[in-house]
Amino acid sequence: KEVADKIAAGEVVDRPLSIVKELVENSIDAGASAITVEIKKGGKTYIRVTDDGSGIEADQVETAFLRHATSKISQARDLESIETLGFRGEALASISAVSRTEIITKPAAAAAGVRLVIEGSHPAEKEMTGCPDGTTIVVRDLFYNTPARQKFMKSDATESSLVIEFVSQIALAYANLKIRLISNGNLLFTTPGRGDRHKNILTVFSREISDDLIPVRAEKDYLSLEGYISGPGQSRATRKHQIFFINGRVVNSKILQKGISQAYSDKLFEGRFPVAFLFLRADPAVLDVNIHPNKREVRFNDEAFVTEFVHHALRQALLSRES
Ligand code: ADP
Ligand code: MG
Repeated sequence: KEVADKIAAGEVVDRPLSIVKELVENSIDAGASAITVEIKKGGKTYIRVTDDGSGIEADQVETAFLRHATSKISQARDLESIETLGFRGEALASISAVSRTEIITKPAAAAAGVRLVIEGSHPAEKEMTGCPDGTTIVVRDLFYNTPARQKFMKSDATESSLVIEFVSQIALAYANLKIRLISNGNLLFTTPGRGDRHKNILTVFSREISDDLIPVRAEKDYLSLEGYISGPGQSRATRKHQIFFINGRVVNSKILQKGISQAYSDKLFEGRFPVAFLFLRADPAVLDVNIHPNKREVRFNDEAFVTEFVHHALRQALLSRES
């Protein structure tokens, strides 16, 4: 059983990023309004995710770590919930099979919380404890019991940059959440969580982009676009400052890319990449998110229409800044 657990775990958990993803998604599902992510050594030795969400009842904590244990209704059919959050009931089971996992959790209504330590699927310690409402999960020594998997992880720097990229995207996508990110003891950012996208972008990328961002806002038929793009002087921008969200989910989009190039084709600006944080909403009926299993690629029924819409919206935004 232990071997089966470890094998199954490999499919859900292959590096610190996948653990952070699962834990953060659980926190969002739990209705958190504030989430802290802390990693050390790229997450290889230490990952902590703390939220102020619903917490877990003391007598349900072990159950949450069983395979196929999910408290969530799996009939969610709308695009967003299926896309962003998993309902497989495997994450905690898998994570605890390949690490030393600690959970401290307390529902608001409970007088005290509970702390449980699980090492390689085995519950090791359980006690009642005083703690704030919500849940903290700490994952230590990832793959300590599966050395072969340890070798598949890249350098601390690479693993941490993947985690930072993901948490940054979550911070932008969920503008109402207060997201705090700490790596090796350094606070990288805390977003205000008041739904202010502009503020969020500047907070998350404070060291990399300047504040002359131009707002974009446009609507047409089944599309609406919102976001921020470069003015002149974003000379330090790189590819990672172009992030596209379609219906709340980060995607790679050649269509949006093309719209950007067209809008900037006759503009002079410093640097190689225009900054573009674009949030596109589209009627799910006109797009296909299933062309790739990780659903990062999205295809539209009428791609030319979408490109032209984006091109036009960005052009208007650039023109409005010039005049
Ligand atoms: P799933 O998310 O697919 O249900 P997980 O293994 O990720 O499966 O989590 C198992 C269960 O543990 C969840 O269904 C939920 O009831 C509970 N849980 C996990 N993380 C949290 C959290 N941060 N706050 C409250 N409950 C949680
Ligand atoms: Mg989950």
